[in-house]
Amino acid sequence: MTGFFLRPSGSDLLHGFEMAHSPDRRAQQRKAGAITHATRWLPAALALLVMAGCASRQLPAPPAATATTASTDDSRATPQVHRAWRFDEDGIGFDNQLPAARLSGVERLGDGLYRIDIAPETHPVNPSPWYGLRIRSDAPRALDLRFSYPHGYRHRYTPKLSRDGRDWREADAQAFEVDADGNARLRLQLDAGELRVFAQPPFLPGDFEAWSTRVAAQVGAQPHAFGHSVQGRPLQAFEFGADGDAPLLLVVGRQHPPENTGTQALMGFVETLAADTPQARAFRSKVRVLVAPLLNPDGVVEGHWRGNANGVDINRDWGPFAQPETRALRDLLAARGIGPGRVAFAIDFHSTFRDVFYTVAEDPSRAPGGVLHGWMAAMQARFDIEEKPSVARSPVFKNWAFCRLGAPAVTYEVGDTTPAGELHEVARHAAHSLMPLLADPPAVPAAPACPSFAGG
Ligand SMILES: [Zn+2]
Repeated sequence: MTGFFLRPSGSDLLHGFEMAHSPDRRAQQRKAGAITHATRWLPAALALLVMAGCASRQLPAPPAATATTASTDDSRATPQVHRAWRFDEDGIGFDNQLPAARLSGVERLGDGLYRIDIAPETHPVNPSPWYGLRIRSDAPRALDLRFSYPHGYRHRYTPKLSRDGRDWREADAQAFEVDADGNARLRLQLDAGELRVFAQPPFLPGDFEAWSTRVAAQVGAQPHAFGHSVQGRPLQAFEFGADGDAPLLLVVGRQHPPENTGTQALMGFVETLAADTPQARAFRSKVRVLVAPLLNPDGVVEGHWRGNANGVDINRDWGPFAQPETRALRDLLAARGIGPGRVAFAIDFHSTFRDVFYTVAEDPSRAPGGVLHGWMAAMQARFDIEEKPSVARSPVFKNWAFCRLGAPAVTYEVGDTTPAGELHEVARHAAHSLMPLLADPPAVPAAPACPSFAGG
């Protein structure tokens, strides 16, 4: 294991990353003679200067309405420099020029041995160290990668590998290890050609759109844009079921970019609601469903660990509404006149280290006879899922949906490593259990006061 602790100190790495993006600071550091790390980051800085125009040209221009309201000036995010690294001595190249890639630096440590630097979009940030890189090799050869994160962030996701971006497999257990300090090492036997190494198989805005279009078509609907992200990407939703003043089931997802298993659960849940079954048809005759499966497209495309393009955790913005992504959904509901009494249930899909459902402690529907009580009982009768109720304080979606829309609300968390078959079984059961409860609901309680809620 000697040589495995070659990562620089966290502050050095992030310092270098910041320097690459700050001409003033770089100049100051040069004056002080502290150029050791700057040298490593100088190519990135030059690439930034060269590519700054390209990066903005690649993005669709935000519509006028968004440009006047998007708070791009208060961005806390350090933009990722999109570039390639080439090492002729090994016939190897690396790059971060794919959507959802995240790679901040590459250093050759020896023959076929490389340190891979991954920095988050901002710091401090929730420790979900997403990474994504492409390797190109001239010939078959062995490669040894050491992942390095600033500020002591620990490696989290077992690498997923793909030669074509379509078929993915998890790295072999004997080729991948994480030591007690959270340092990860991946050994690869490369073929000639390219290999993608990502934290999770990327699921991109185009994939969300294709899935939404297919599922919506099954129930005679189609996706529509209800707003735009900071970088001007459309925020899409689709709606189906009963019309008019029918109670609404509100389903949202992917506020946090890395949370792939949460998306898989959302898909299984919604597909069950949209299925051509007697239960689902009866449900759709009484209840309307609104699905917004991707609330943070910029974060997904930029390979962010947590935030939107401004580096803001949008699941702390359901109250401040300082970001266009949260404002857009709030305004969509307001434009439809959807407020307290109309939303029968709200569910927000995420991923974390284990399967857990976060609920609101004050929610009267958690009492026997209530919707949340009935649903949770049905889930726990079949699966080992913990419910964690807490007082509605922070401006997360769940608390806003409960405190401002009067809806029973849950943050549905799926473990990072929950197998696809298992999470789909849980998600389908979640839908099967909820449908009869919403089709014949008990009396909807009045919107609660929520004295502790920090939202507006
Ligand atoms: Zn999350």
